[in-house]
Amino acid sequence: MISYWEKMHFLYYDYVIIGSGITGLSAVCSIKERQPNASIAVLERGLLPTGATTKNAGFACIGSFTEKWHDLELMGEDAFLQLIEDRWKGLAKLRSRLGDEQIEYANNGGYELLFANQYINEEQLHHMNGLLNKIFNQDVFKTDPSLIQAFGFNKQMLSNVIVNPLDAQINSGKMMRALYRMAASLNTYIATGAEVMNIEETENGVNVIVNNPLLPEPLLFKSNKVAICTNAFTGKFFPELDITPGRGQVIVTEPIHNLKMKGVFSFDEGYYYFRNIDNRILFGGGRNLDFDGETTTEFGPNQKILDQLSYYLHEMILPGNKMKIEQQWSGIMAFGKNKLPLVQKVSEHIAVGARLNGMGIALSSKIGEEIATLLVNG
Ligand SMILES: Cc1cc2nc3c(=O)[nH]c(=O)nc-3n(C[C@H](O)[C@H](O)[C@H](O)COP(=O)(O)OP(=O)(O)OC[C@H]3O[C@@H](n4cnc5c(N)ncnc54)[C@H](O)[C@@H]3O)c2cc1C
Repeated sequence: MISYWEKMHFLYYDYVIIGSGITGLSAVCSIKERQPNASIAVLERGLLPTGATTKNAGFACIGSFTEKWHDLELMGEDAFLQLIEDRWKGLAKLRSRLGDEQIEYANNGGYELLFANQYINEEQLHHMNGLLNKIFNQDVFKTDPSLIQAFGFNKQMLSNVIVNPLDAQINSGKMMRALYRMAASLNTYIATGAEVMNIEETENGVNVIVNNPLLPEPLLFKSNKVAICTNAFTGKFFPELDITPGRGQVIVTEPIHNLKMKGVFSFDEGYYYFRNIDNRILFGGGRNLDFDGETTTEFGPNQKILDQLSYYLHEMILPGNKMKIEQQWSGIMAFGKNKLPLVQKVSEHIAVGARLNGMGIALSSKIGEEIATLLVNG
């Protein structure tokens, strides 16, 4: 049974946020900006956040040219430009909220590598630059094939590099520690190991039922409003929403002496991505090699993809270097039929902010604001 003290001081809130990834904690900050005295609890099932945010690659970017071209064709001009603007504004918010130093923001540029048999369509590049000029007042993409040699990549396997000077990188671990500190400093109760099993809307609010393995019955939190920030895992609560999980594989090399490359790199329409971190390479992606196998909420390796990552690393990115792969992990993203995130009220007292694709770093602060607006004003 719960005690008097627990009932009085732990279980009743103005807002409960489910999920302590970057979206959940951004929502906390945005609610507190609007309502400083609100009582908030964050319920996180993992001992660490266990989804995408602390498993990602730390690209703080608008994305590569060919990926953007694909998005434009899929979404149409208006939705495409809105999404780019939201990413840019979201990133600005994250940077101003936490500070560039705390998140190790580094604007080393973005570089898309084109395979030897892949050619740049100058007309498309020109068209894309024209569109993005409306937001950035500058041409975003330009080509520079000399960078293949400058970075030490395999000249036989590549034909060109598309440069984006706006793209940057952050340290996702430091960013999340800073966000946790900020949420805690705003007098938020953050419970880890708190898996929400069910939510029930009542007349005045929401009952949130949390697994409580040490005692015979689950814990019942009561809240006026609830934000579901569980990204790929949202189907547990609302299976009817258009959210499909997508696992991503990541590797990190041992330290590399005299590593030349700096920045965020991608190829194959953004399906593969790598960057420098400390003096190592972090390399991830390859989901398109096995879409079926990677459509899962289960963490775990995919040997076919890991073999391909190792091949590109040793043959294309650092040819002739026998560096070892020191670490490997996976994380779970959320996708839908289009590239837009899903932010909506699902009932009187509950809002969902999820489906951040592979761009949560830039978008999540904007999503946090939208969740706060839906819940505080709604
Ligand atoms: C391998 C990989 C690389 C990526 N690279 C980049 C990148 O370079 N740049 C970029 O912008 N984006 C990248 N992304 C995407 C980005 O990480 C996500 O878009 C973003 O982190 C989503 O944040 P979130 O808070 O919405 O979700 P998550 O970080 O997944 O957080 C959801 C949280 O909800 C918790 N949860 C789930 N169910 C429950 C429950 N029942 N009860 C309580 N808690 C629950 C989970 O444990 C988790 O901590 C990458 C993702 C992956 C996997």
